[in-house]
Order: sequence, then C-alpha cells, then structure tokens
Amino acid sequence: MKKNNRREFIRMAALSGAGLGLSRRLPAWAGEPPGTADQLVPPVAADGLDALTPVMPVESARPAAFFMPNVAGKFAPGGPAFVPRRAASWWTTLEDILWPEKKVVDRIKRRAENFANANIDTAINFGFHVRFDFANYFGQLHGYYANVCEELHKQDIKFMEHYSCNHVERPRGEEGLRQLQKTQRHHVLLFHDPAAAQYAQYEGHYFNDCCEIDIRDGGRGYADYYALEVFCHNNPGFLDMHKKYLQRLMREVPFDGIEIDDMCDYAGFTACGCKYCRERLRKDYGHEIPPFGDVSFWGDTSLSDRSRWGNYENPAFRDWLRMKSDSVADHLKMIKSTIGGIPLMTCCSNAGPIVLNSIALNLEKLAPYLDFFMLENVGINVETVNWMIMDAEALYQKDVAEKRGNAPAITISYMVCEKGGYLGWCLGRFWGVANWSSTLYGRLEEDPADALEVEDIMRPYNHWELHHSDLNNARGKDLVEVRLVTSSYCRENGWRGADVLEQWDRVKAWSALLLKNNIGYRLLRSDELSDSKALGDEPTPLILDGVACVSDSQFRALQSFLSKGGTVWMAGPFGTHDEKGFKRKASLSDELRKSRYKNLVMVGTATAGDPLKSLVSEGRFWPVLRQLSGNPLWAVRIRFYKEGPAIHFLNRGLVAVPHPTIKENAGLPVLKDFYAEAGDNNLEYAFDAHRLAIDRLSVKSPELGENSRLVTMRNGRDGQSILQVNLEGVETYAVVQQNAIPGQTI
Ligand SMILES: [Zn+2]
Repeated sequence: MKKNNRREFIRMAALSGAGLGLSRRLPAWAGEPPGTADQLVPPVAADGLDALTPVMPVESARPAAFFMPNVAGKFAPGGPAFVPRRAASWWTTLEDILWPEKKVVDRIKRRAENFANANIDTAINFGFHVRFDFANYFGQLHGYYANVCEELHKQDIKFMEHYSCNHVERPRGEEGLRQLQKTQRHHVLLFHDPAAAQYAQYEGHYFNDCCEIDIRDGGRGYADYYALEVFCHNNPGFLDMHKKYLQRLMREVPFDGIEIDDMCDYAGFTACGCKYCRERLRKDYGHEIPPFGDVSFWGDTSLSDRSRWGNYENPAFRDWLRMKSDSVADHLKMIKSTIGGIPLMTCCSNAGPIVLNSIALNLEKLAPYLDFFMLENVGINVETVNWMIMDAEALYQKDVAEKRGNAPAITISYMVCEKGGYLGWCLGRFWGVANWSSTLYGRLEEDPADALEVEDIMRPYNHWELHHSDLNNARGKDLVEVRLVTSSYCRENGWRGADVLEQWDRVKAWSALLLKNNIGYRLLRSDELSDSKALGDEPTPLILDGVACVSDSQFRALQSFLSKGGTVWMAGPFGTHDEKGFKRKASLSDELRKSRYKNLVMVGTATAGDPLKSLVSEGRFWPVLRQLSGNPLWAVRIRFYKEGPAIHFLNRGLVAVPHPTIKENAGLPVLKDFYAEAGDNNLEYAFDAHRLAIDRLSVKSPELGENSRLVTMRNGRDGQSILQVNLEGVETYAVVQQNAIPGQTI
C-alpha cells in the first residue's frame, strides 16, 4: 500500500482516527467533430488460427464515439464541450481572496500567459477547496475566478472549477490545528473557529444542521484524516444549499467545466444516522439501522482498521452500503441537473477494491452523471516509480469513460520535483489519456526552497509532444487481445475467497502478468458481462478469476458466448453467489463444466501462479507481440490512431532517488529523481503481421530531443515479422510511430 497519498487516505479515512495526510494532486480545445471508429486503422484479422486463440484482436467498429449523454440518459449530438489534453493545476492561496488587489490581478494575467507558453490547454482550480468554509467571501472569490476565466480565455485556455462540496474544516483542538498545517496546506486553511461555527451558514442553512450524525455517539460525522465535518447527502437543507451555491457560481463565474469532489462519505460506515438516512433505508430497503455494537450488523468493531468493520454476511448490512452509495449518486444527479451541459467531473482515486465500500465510493453508480473521468494515479513519494500497480485502475477508468460515449479520461500526477512531472506525462501517454500535471507542495510542511511552478516543469514536455508526437488519445483505440473481468458485484457484497483475497486482487494479478508480457487488454465490467451481444462483438478471450457473485443474466450471457465458440479462461470460484451476495444452492461453475464448452479453459488463479505462461506454451494463446531479445523491463502498449498505430514504451525498471531531506508526513522520502536499471536497449520483437499492420516507423522520445531513429523490420518465420527498436539513451519513455507524411499530423 502506498503511503501518504490519496489512496492511503481512502484506507485511513473510514477508518481510523489517525490523522495523517492527502496527496492529491487546455490553445483551443474545441471538441473535434464526431468521429467514427472506422476511421481508425485496425489490424488485419488473423486466419487459420486455432479456435482457442484470439482470432481478431481488434475492437469491433462502433459508431460515433463522441456523443455525450445528458442527465436524462439521452445522447446529445455535438460531443463534449472540450477535450482536455494538457491540463495543469491553477493553485490559489489565501492572498488571492483579496481580489481585486492589483498584485492579485497582475498575477492572474502573468500566470495565464505562462500557461499558454507551456501549451497547457486546461487550468483546473486548486486551493479554495472546502468551499463552504469561504461562504462569507464568495463575492470576492467569484470575482477572482471570473478574472481568471477572462485571462485564460484570452489565451484560449479552458478553466475548470474544482471544490469539495460536502465538508467544512473543523480541526479539533490545537493539536488538530497543527496537524492540519503539516499535511493539508494544499487546501486554503481558513475556517470558522468553534464559537463562530455554531452560527456558520449559507442561504439560511446552518452547517451544523447539514452534518451527518455518527451512529456511535450521535455526534457530527467526522473525517479524522482531513479534520472535516461531513454534510449528509440525504439532508434536504444541504442539498438546497449546494444547489443555490452552484446556481450562483454559474451566474458569477464563466467556468468551462467543473470538478466537484468527494462524492463519497469520508465519515465511514457509522454515518449517517440522521432522520433522512434512517427514512431512506426504511423506504428503499425495508431495514432499520441497528444500534452500534450489534455484532450481526456492525461486525468486529474492536478492529483498529475501521474499513474492516461490518458483517457482509448480513444482507441488511449490504443494503446499508447500497443505500449510502445510492444517496451519493442522487446528490451527483442533482448537481448534473443543475449545471446542465457544462462538463462535470469528480475525484476518484480508486475504483476496484472492497475498502471503497467503507466510504461509499462507487464510480460505476456515479458514471451516468459524469462527463469527464479522472484517475489520481500517483503520489509524490519514492513509491511513485512503481507505476505498474496503477495499470488496472487506469484501464478501469478508461473503460468507464469509453462506455460513457468515449468521454475524456484524465489522469492526474502529483509532483514535488521535476522528474515526477515527466513520469506523470509519460503515464498519460502510455495509458492514452489526458495528463493533468499538479505540483503538491501543500502536502509538505513548507515549500521546498527550489520549488518550481507547474508550467515551468511541463513546458518542455508539452512542447516536445506538440512538435514530435501530437497523438490524439481521444481518438485512439488500444490493441485489445484479452478482456479481463472485474466484478462490482463481488466488491459491493464484500466477497473474499478462501485465500482472503478479493476479486480485485485477482484483477490486479492478471494486470501485472499481462503488462509484463506486453499483451493488450482491457477491463470488462459487470454491466457488460450481462450483455451477450457485447460479449460476442469481440472475439478475444474473457478472463474470469474469482468472479463469485454472478447474476442470472450474466450467466446466461456467458453461456451464450461460450455456446457460440467464445473463449473463457476461468479460475474459480465462479457463481457461488448471486449479484446481491446471497449464496447460490449450487455453484454455477458446476453447470458450466457439465455443458462441456470446448473453449472453456479452466486455469489457476493469477494470485498464486502464472496461468498465462501455460496458456501460451500450450498454444492456447498467441500474443501479437513477443520479445526476442533486449531489456525485458520495457512495457509496451499498442494503440491505433487515426493515422496509424503507435507503440508506447514505458520502463518497468525505474529506481527512485529519494530527496535527501524532504519527507512526506508518513515518513517516506519525496521522489527527487529516478533512473532506469541498466539493460540492453536494443530490443527485438516478433509480431504477427496479419494482426498488426505497421510500416514506416521511427522512435521518438523527449529523451532523444529533436532526434528520431528509424525502426527496422524484416520477415521472420511462420508469418511472423521482426521489429527492431533501438532505445539506447532512453531511460523512461519512447514512442514508435509512423513517420509523418508531409502535410499530415499524427
Ligand atoms: Zn444523513
């Protein structure tokens, strides 16, 4: 587990009283006209392959990628208002609220010009985050943001508002106050003192009356980690206050998009016990909240890790969690209905594991109301170089975005030192999503003496990209050779196997194997698993590892897929429970086995071995790309763009250089630099030319500057072609792409 970053917060927040810290972290972006997938250059279908192998590793042509649904679920033509590609945080400090002081106004203008010079196309607000803390100053704050919009728009840069809607800072005692200053300076820390807080309000709604009720003691819901009091998503006063605030914000600030954070419940399992939540649980699910201490519902509450509380064997507890995430989704729906066509995003630092239930974070329930999707991928400490563990989540986010009409996906990378900014940029390229660069000095007790502005860090990389490899990821399609199933049902029902591992652990284990073997994959989520047509649209194998909670419709769809010759690699258990978490009388895997589908391949779990190895060695699976020689630590991802395929290389063997003195609050050193393990960077791969049509390629990298190298190809045996890529002098990232034809951009 990474320490001292946002995902660590997710674990801690619910969860223990220990207060540590959060690491968080676009010229004209007029949306491009709606495109069609048939404009891509797909690989050629293979022929003559064994039925057990993927025969056509390309996603089926699907029409019109750029349609954005409105809140009613209908698709409005015209696409997103804009598509961020090179975003950066617009940091604010307490002084900015003194707008229109001249130096504040001058600073806005100067930074907007600097952003333009760094080819940043979207500025995303950061600073006045816990928004209702500033209720007494909204006039000046909105004046400031309107001024920011004015200056950015002159530079053809979009501005996204960004705040947390459902909290107020309420540090408890001097110790809490001091702790906040050590770790949370990235939020402007101005808030009501305890006496004033009694009367703090907006539009007649007292904040104290909007707060959640902690079931343990009847006190206000509290998130220890941030020192926040938490508003209740079911409280009509809070919802009215938030709606009126949004309407005012829209009148006073011409923002282009908005990120409204914390669509979850940081107070954890034991909130909220207010009358509205009790009524909702009764009405929607027919349950009463039992008193705290009822072990049959609350589980073992002696555990210090509060995310482990709760008895998932009790259906009422599972419904309690459903009600909580339903409530968050309804709040987001209200937000979307208020802002209309303005692009809406929320923070999401994670999407897969069970621990998210403890804070009611369920991205799939939120997705229908979102227009942009954001993944917080890395922290600022030395563990950042271990980027591989984030691959599954990144692809999860990408799939959610794609199923929302190919909505823009964005990854945020936090940095303290320059190289952290470069790694974030590389990850955006590798994953094929927009990059949001963000310094995060506020996570440290004080700014480093040599702190750089984000635009200064990112300028060279953005310049290089525009001049050498301006790939439009929003129009790109990953090469998909297998589909890896992730089950939200398993997560929602808290299912764990006899090995105590959850289904997401198995997804991550497969992700690591696929990444290591350079096999293109995508995640396939629960909704799609019940869609027999969607399953059959792609001929690639499905991987199901520990998919224990299966609905009847999913089972029927899977049977249909198998009966038509589809390939499934399955590691049990499978179908031991239904989608609500109730145990089935008989496991569905028994029924599958009886049917003797010829392409149902039972394999071992990836958490305890390497099932991929035997699938390949036994000739059941034939990857498009196989490395023949050279450093094996280069991860390869193939993506098809309008003008042709590109192959992204990102090093899995990066070694962190810790900052000698600066540490995050959890004690891990900040990432100062990194280097790559030595290896032979003359790389040779065999690839199936029937399935991957590539030609006229060259290697480019910011690490090669203006230079590029030709890639050589020759015919190999058995219909294979050989690709030789020279990455000498490149440590972190390179792209192999088609040489530009004069007059053509790639
Ligand atoms: Zn409530």
